[in-house]
Amino acid sequence: MTLPAPPVPVQPGQESKAGFELPRKSADAIARAEAILAALYERYPDAHCELDYRSPHELLVATILSAQATDVAVNKATPALFEAFPTPAAYAAATAAEIEPFVRSLGFFRNKALAVHTAMTRVADAYGGKVPRTMEELLTLRGVARKTANVVLSNAFGINVGVVVDTHVMRLAKRFGLSRHADPARIERDLMALLPRPHWGMASHLLIWHGRRVCKARGGTCGSDPICQRFCSNAKAAPKKQPASRAGRARKAAATRGSAASSRRRARP
Ligand code: SF4
Repeated sequence: MTLPAPPVPVQPGQESKAGFELPRKSADAIARAEAILAALYERYPDAHCELDYRSPHELLVATILSAQATDVAVNKATPALFEAFPTPAAYAAATAAEIEPFVRSLGFFRNKALAVHTAMTRVADAYGGKVPRTMEELLTLRGVARKTANVVLSNAFGINVGVVVDTHVMRLAKRFGLSRHADPARIERDLMALLPRPHWGMASHLLIWHGRRVCKARGGTCGSDPICQRFCSNAKAAPKKQPASRAGRARKAAATRGSAASSRRRARP
């Protein structure tokens, strides 16, 4: 199955998986993973990062703020924050306490304000105000772990070093049989081994979009969604609702009448 070109142009040298030690996967497993990806591309042609940003540093700030918060909540908080602090230097010139009021609506706002202030101060002082473009450098910033670094690298720069594994990707990778692990680092390596590197960034968006719209943490549409029916063992296990036969409807009606009659008998004084 042919995959479409990834919408974010991939940097030269990012075409192959060379240089990574990844788990070995069979040709069948790789073909199946690519078929899932192709079906998701077809379903969600506009899938993209749902955080609002206009520059790499804004994406970095938004992603730091998104820990334990929804993208919707972050997107409500960031317009005023980005206006008050238009550059990394502006954050560096302020204090964490001055950032707090802008992120108070989000959980752990004191920690997040401190992380944003410290990370932006380092971007301003150590990297000349430009967000670094390597995983190693990004991981030196406060509040930045591998997931955040992957978000920034793939979305802001088209650099695919790994796959973003958030709660949706963890759930979907398991349900679609792409990984049997529970640890995000091992799930990421499975996905990297199964999927072509130029698509690592989009793969997480596509899984997240399906996770938010169809395969929700509580109550997915198992059994009725075509992608689920094709690829998820849950859908295959989910009983399909059959239209009741005439005899079945008669039995149900008789049972209902019987139970109503016995209730009336019990209610008599
Ligand atoms: S069948 Fe259910 S569990 Fe499987 S991907 Fe679809 S919604 Fe999720």
